[in-house]
Amino acid sequence: MPHLISSTAMLQTARKNGYGITAFNVHTLEMLQAVVDAAEELQAPLILQTTVGTVKHLGPDYIVAAAATAAKRSTVPIALHLDHCTDYNLLIQCIREGYTSVMIDASMHPFEENVRRTQEVVKVAAAAGVNVEAELGKVGGVEDDIVVADEDALLADPDECVKFAELTGVPTLAPAIGTAHGIYKGEPNIAFGKLEQIFAKVDLPLVLHGGSGIPADQVKRCVALGMAKMNVATELRIAFSNAIKTIFDANPEENDPRKYMVPAKAAVKELAQAKMHLTGCVGRAKDFR
Ligand SMILES: [Zn+2]
Repeated sequence: MPHLISSTAMLQTARKNGYGITAFNVHTLEMLQAVVDAAEELQAPLILQTTVGTVKHLGPDYIVAAAATAAKRSTVPIALHLDHCTDYNLLIQCIREGYTSVMIDASMHPFEENVRRTQEVVKVAAAAGVNVEAELGKVGGVEDDIVVADEDALLADPDECVKFAELTGVPTLAPAIGTAHGIYKGEPNIAFGKLEQIFAKVDLPLVLHGGSGIPADQVKRCVALGMAKMNVATELRIAFSNAIKTIFDANPEENDPRKYMVPAKAAVKELAQAKMHLTGCVGRAKDFR
């Protein structure tokens, strides 16, 4: 595909056809290449995403250049998404640089304020042909500098989801349903009853946050209930870092990134492909030709 594309149509197609598109948080060029390789080999549509922390770490222009190069070289559709942004100015900067999807996370504010901030972003993004994701309720755990303690995590209310979708016109919605960022201590306690109601009432692609470590059967159930995008961040970082640690444990003198990055990329690719099989997006690139 010649360009990065907006994820709005991608996610609508996924919801309509009952599969989920995997969205991977990448922090280095090698991680980006590994997930693109994974998607290309399995012919899966792909969403690359970065947190605000990674945007500050690498620079939005470098990230867009790498993602755009991946899109140009690839036969599968690729979108570039900004994850959990609370800073309006940074969000606008990322749209200007070429991000094709943004998340405005105003979930820490009261409902009306969340609506107002989301409306503002939807207006600007729509003019630029960029997808928007917003969050209702509060996803627990730690994502960059957004920290939500377990007792403060809040499930999304199905009727509020309906109202929010109508008032904001947001194309994709991330309702908090009991998943959390980071690694689960036990099993996640997903509120499937709530998700069923949201699925029935809101005709939008939904987004599953905290996708690291959710058991396979629960991921499949979420996808069947409208979760058209699953975010995977923590598990990917761990796979990448552990592969490098193994190299240095065996050979502390190793000093060539071209050597220790090879198994790190392989580990990321393998994990990404396992997640793609789980959400059912394997072979689905054909839906976008
Ligand atoms: Zn998240």
